[in-house]
Amino acid sequence: KSDFVATITHDLRSPLTVIQGALRLLPQLGQLNDEQSEFAQRASRSAEHMDRLISSLLDIGQIEAGVEMKMEPVQLSEVVEQVVANLQEEATGKRLTLDLELADDLSVVRGNPTRLVQVVTNLLDNAIRYTPEGGRVAVRASDDGGEVTVSVTDTGVGIPSQAKDHVFQKFYRVEGSQTRELEGIGLGLATVKSIVDRHGGRVWVKSKEGEGSTFYFTLPAMRGQGD
Ligand code: ADP
Repeated sequence: KSDFVATITHDLRSPLTVIQGALRLLPQLGQLNDEQSEFAQRASRSAEHMDRLISSLLDIGQIEAGVEMKMEPVQLSEVVEQVVANLQEEATGKRLTLDLELADDLSVVRGNPTRLVQVVTNLLDNAIRYTPEGGRVAVRASDDGGEVTVSVTDTGVGIPSQAKDHVFQKFYRVEGSQTRELEGIGLGLATVKSIVDRHGGRVWVKSKEGEGSTFYFTLPAMRGQGD
């Protein structure tokens, strides 16, 4: 299945590049009327959406294949702080309160910093997108000695109990207008799960529809030298 996805995504990319290029050049061939311009824009948006889809599929394929997953000691509080700083503006734009609670002296974990930034980014980005204006989002990190746990809590739309088992599957999106009106591909959480699995960790969600969700992931703490 992975080979199939890798081949298909590669073969889809080249014609898509041609389509996007042609759509970009179209207005240079002569003035488009409003309707023509609207159709060209619609085609362009769909091509962009497909491009993101292909990139995400290629990316998840690489994670599953273990490509470029160089592991090193990582301090998760630094990862979390970086992501929160990156997405602060998005949260403020939606008038969300974004809290950060990091326990002191978190253990170092063995991981790939770029991929771990991607995990926290996907979780926090979802929390922001699926929470209506004026809500709260909190990112926490704690350490019980053996494991480091990061959680992202929101006061958003929540996830129906029958959907909770499926949200980490590729392309799964919860039915319902609140989710569907937000653009998404349904690969964010599948990517999160693949990365966390590769790190020997676990990821899960607790949620109540209409009240909010908390996504958790844990990674094994690195043992000190000499252990
Ligand atoms: P996408 O956001 O692109 O649809 P994801 O894989 O990130 O894909 O999420 C899958 C689905 O899980 C989403 O479509 C949404 O229905 C649900 N979901 C994810 N995060 C949240 C959240 N914080 N609150 C409510 N629903 C969520």
